Amino acid sequence: MCLLPGEPVKMSVNKPITIVGGGLAGLTLGIGLRQRGVPVTIYEAGNYPRHRVCGEFISGRGQETLARLGLGELFQAAGAVSAHTTAFFSATRFTAPRPLPSAAICLSRFKLDAALAKKFRELSGELLESKRFAGDFGEGVIRSTGRRAQVEPRGPRWFGLKIHARNIKLVADLEMHVSPQGYVGLCKINDGEVNVCGLFRKNESENSEAKNGRELLRGPAGSPLHQRLATAEFDEDSFCAVAGLSLRPQQAAARCEICVGDAITMIPPVTGNGMSMAFESAELAVAPLAAWSRGGTSWSDARQKIAQDCDAAFARRLAWAKWLQRLILTPALQNPLVALATRSDWFWRLAFERTR
Ligand SMILES: Cc1cc2nc3c(=O)[nH]c(=O)nc-3n(C[C@H](O)[C@H](O)[C@H](O)COP(=O)(O)OP(=O)(O)OC[C@H]3O[C@@H](n4cnc5c(N)ncnc54)[C@H](O)[C@@H]3O)c2cc1C
Repeated sequence: MCLLPGEPVKMSVNKPITIVGGGLAGLTLGIGLRQRGVPVTIYEAGNYPRHRVCGEFISGRGQETLARLGLGELFQAAGAVSAHTTAFFSATRFTAPRPLPSAAICLSRFKLDAALAKKFRELSGELLESKRFAGDFGEGVIRSTGRRAQVEPRGPRWFGLKIHARNIKLVADLEMHVSPQGYVGLCKINDGEVNVCGLFRKNESENSEAKNGRELLRGPAGSPLHQRLATAEFDEDSFCAVAGLSLRPQQAAARCEICVGDAITMIPPVTGNGMSMAFESAELAVAPLAAWSRGGTSWSDARQKIAQDCDAAFARRLAWAKWLQRLILTPALQNPLVALATRSDWFWRLAFERTR
């Protein structure tokens, strides 16, 4: 383009984007936008590093997102380990270890969130820690605030617990232990630790406070879980809990804001796919938001595109996850399911592939 003498140079200025919530979805989106030169500010109510209730087992297409955003090495540098095998236990039965249909990555949220926050800052993103956003979610503002605390009017109330431990010998990289109260996943993570994370239900009629969290995580006396944790040395600083979980699937298109991650919907944690959905939804949002920032599209069109793409990507796995969770957490079905999983490759493939 030739400029006439005295003609002002027109600079194309990117409009800034504010991301509310510096968890996995918010930080990944922030990194993707910074890689495209978009000015980004992230508000995070908490700070880094911090422990989060999470199985810390990353499985599914989100791993491809991480590779495309150039974040794979960051995970390795933070100490991530690969998981290749899994085994399934009820109170009285168990399967032999099975290969996972595809490898998973395991890394504590303590390290993972802090590594992503550091990367975002290296890309000159503005990250405001210990700052709760209280403004409007209007144009230019993204909601990545995580799960929406919600008590279901009917049915059980779900809560999650997690603690790290040492001195546990697992028979597989991921062990899933189901019981009438819920399930506990034991997963090898960085630095020789094992993450002990569970999802439990409390019925509306139960007024008493949930049992001591550590007791629940240890499982009923005599169960394979209890035996596995008999020698465990727990890292008390890593203990955390979360309640008010709503596992009812929601659609992004039903939200009037642009949302990523659990702010759209939470997939039942038993699938180990929530983090993947956080990464994937963030990636799906990058191009439409970068286009809005350049002035190439309207906010409303960007919102519609992101919502459509997220719903198309997640609808099938959300539907399967709902049924899988129901099956696994129905006490009468737990022993037959373990027996089926012992005999059938089909069950494993179905459970893994359809929820990813
Ligand atoms: C028991 C349990 C086990 C799980 N296990 C697994 C697993 O093994 N594998 C897996 O893939 N997924 C698992 N998940 C799901 C996974 O943890 C979530 O899907 C993932 O953390 C979602 O990331 P996010 O960024 O959307 O939300 P989050 O990681 O929750 O981040 C949201 C952030 O927003 C911040 N925030 C909220 N409101 C504001 C505000 N107003 N202003 C500023 N900041 C705000 C919060 O402080 C938080 O840091 C599990 C979940 C549970 C409950």
